[in-house]
Amino acid sequence: MTAFQYIQHPSPTSEDQIAQILKDPGFGTNFTDHTAVIDWTLDGGWANPRVEAYGPIPLDPAASVLHYGQEIFEGLKAYKHSDGGIYTFRPQANAARLNKSAHRMALPALDENLFLESLEQLVAVDKSWVPTGEGEALYLRPFMFATEAFLGVRPAQEVSYRVIASPAGNYFGGELKPVRIWVSRDYARAAPGGTGDAKTGGNYAASLLPQQQAAENGCQQVLFLDPLHDNAIEELGGMNVFLVTNDGRLLTPELTGTILEGVTRSSVIQLAKDRGLTVEERRITLDEWDAGVTEGTITEVFACGTAAVITPIGELVDGDKVIASTGTGEVTQAIREELLGIQTGTVEDRHNWLHRL
Ligand code: PMP
Repeated sequence: MTAFQYIQHPSPTSEDQIAQILKDPGFGTNFTDHTAVIDWTLDGGWANPRVEAYGPIPLDPAASVLHYGQEIFEGLKAYKHSDGGIYTFRPQANAARLNKSAHRMALPALDENLFLESLEQLVAVDKSWVPTGEGEALYLRPFMFATEAFLGVRPAQEVSYRVIASPAGNYFGGELKPVRIWVSRDYARAAPGGTGDAKTGGNYAASLLPQQQAAENGCQQVLFLDPLHDNAIEELGGMNVFLVTNDGRLLTPELTGTILEGVTRSSVIQLAKDRGLTVEERRITLDEWDAGVTEGTITEVFACGTAAVITPIGELVDGDKVIASTGTGEVTQAIREELLGIQTGTVEDRHNWLHRL
């Protein structure tokens, strides 16, 4: 594999315009000037790594991604620290998850070093796009999709891997407000043997209708259940879930193949153990959640993921019934501060989670 080639954008965004965008970055609406690209073919493997101008992708109408959805993606953030360096958080975990998703979707594996280099190369040319406001970061979106023009249903023999970057503000906007979550009774997200633990576009397409129901009911996200196992809780559309008990335990659904293994989830588990909390990864039913909140044994509930880091769940709306939690509890707050502190460079990185780009 040759080194990344750099093809500069012919008319990059001016520093003034970037400054204007970074005043209110929002989420996922503005994109940096460049994109990292690597092509793959069955015969030649990965080739032609490059950083080129961000722009539309030429794609054959028969490209199999458009028909059969052979696609995977990742999401991670790069924070600018006070030492001037730009750091990502556990990107090796994203590389591993990308390859796990690739395996499930019959896409080619990408070497971890090539994955890391694609992030480094892109951020190196677009570093002025990293916002520096509190909780703000450059969101990196690596993705891989089938470009081969072929309508037969089989793994594509031509694939593209790309990384785009987007300055990101606070996901749910502003301060740490507890969110309202809609329980999806009509739709499930994943089934045993399905693609629930792969980060593939189809999982998100399938979540849009329940997400719409959630919005119609004044909720920001959906909680998916496992109807085959007593309505065990699974995860939100884009976040994992934790419950905190009054006797120092942290409960979270176990990884059975139907939920995504969040990088934030595993980090929260580690930080909780460091604090002496007992972590139970197991089946948790909606009834247990409801009873626990009513009896006072479950004192806090929160969701976690790269985009929103840690967000308290205030209300769980299950049809006409509302299960109300305490809002922002002590444990939620403490773990959030520590995690965000490590990510932004104000708390010691004792687990060596940061990777300087
Ligand atoms: N579950 C789903 C379905 C997700 O899309 C995400 C976001 N990647 C997560 C959980 C949280 O994962 P992470 O902590 O790696 O962002």
